[in-house]
Amino acid sequence: MFQKGDKLYSIVGMKCPRCHEGKLWKTPFHKMKLYDMYENCPVCGLKYEQEPGFWYGAMYMAYTFSSGALLIVMLVCMFVLKWNLTQIFTAVGITALIGFTYNARLSRSAWLNIMVSYNPNWKKQNEERERKRAELKAQGVNVDEVSSLTSQGKHGFESDNKIFKV
Ligand SMILES: [Zn+2]
Repeated sequence: MFQKGDKLYSIVGMKCPRCHEGKLWKTPFHKMKLYDMYENCPVCGLKYEQEPGFWYGAMYMAYTFSSGALLIVMLVCMFVLKWNLTQIFTAVGITALIGFTYNARLSRSAWLNIMVSYNPNWKKQNEERERKRAELKAQGVNVDEVSSLTSQGKHGFESDNKIFKV
């Protein structure tokens, strides 16, 4: 349905938002290890947790997704299936339990995809970064202290130009 390069492809497919190839999670979601996430994309190296506290934003996504999904279940039970109140609450409860882990992961995936865009040139950028690192290292600069060269996150790439002023 969705192709590589589409936001929905990486959100629903739980792929790295930058390269659309690397996985976000180490284990399938039904294993119940909620946040068993890779620190960096195994393919392009993007740092998933962009900054400390980054995942707090995903809670808002989780809230939106879960209330939306539960509302739909409730409305279908009420108006399509015409169930009684006990049946409706049971259905909503079961949906919430089953959807809990998937929703937790989907919300992180969506949040990360909102913050980081697809970049088909990631390979070239990584090579450029390594080249700059080697160049500065040769000049005696401690490259690990140049944040734009150590962080593989979005903010690191945006500040790439600053390194020439070191
Ligand atoms: Zn990636």
